[in-house]
Amino acid sequence: MAVKKVVRMGHPVLRELATPLSKEEILSPETKNLVQDMLDTMEVEEGIGIAAPQIGVSKQIALVGVPADSERYPETEETPLYVVINPTIKVIDETPQGFWEGCLSVPGLRGYVERPKKVQVDFLNLSGEKESLVLEGFSATVFQHELDHLFGKLYVDHIKDSKELMYTEEFMEFHAPEEYEDEE
Ligand code: ZN
Repeated sequence: MAVKKVVRMGHPVLRELATPLSKEEILSPETKNLVQDMLDTMEVEEGIGIAAPQIGVSKQIALVGVPADSERYPETEETPLYVVINPTIKVIDETPQGFWEGCLSVPGLRGYVERPKKVQVDFLNLSGEKESLVLEGFSATVFQHELDHLFGKLYVDHIKDSKELMYTEEFMEFHAPEEYEDEE
């Protein structure tokens, strides 16, 4: 398939409510190709998630998967790859937890964002079947970040203190927790 260009903050598609897919559409070859393009793009960009709007397609599909050796996000545990279609999200524990987030559509920056620490995500998989996941810790944040993309939101919308938005290089030099040390 193909590596697509990732659209950046400022592109209107990132601010649209993406369209849910019908069952027929989920099972179509077009959707299979779209998911493959998203996967190829995510791998090249070394992302741990990607949403269709990030490659310019306003549809409710997101991929989330953290490889065991993610250099961009060393604090995280490995997560298998999920294809998440037409999701709804429910907060189970609203206690805020904070992480330094980054985004392929906001390249070169990191920002500190607090989100609810436990959520339930109901969605359809690539076979059009219902699935439900309960997520905690960093994976709860990753899912919330990716699903935000389907509803026109970016992580920068959640930053409470603009002092906690910075360039990745300065983040690494002055603010990164120790486990980031190996990142170039
Ligand atoms: Zn993002």
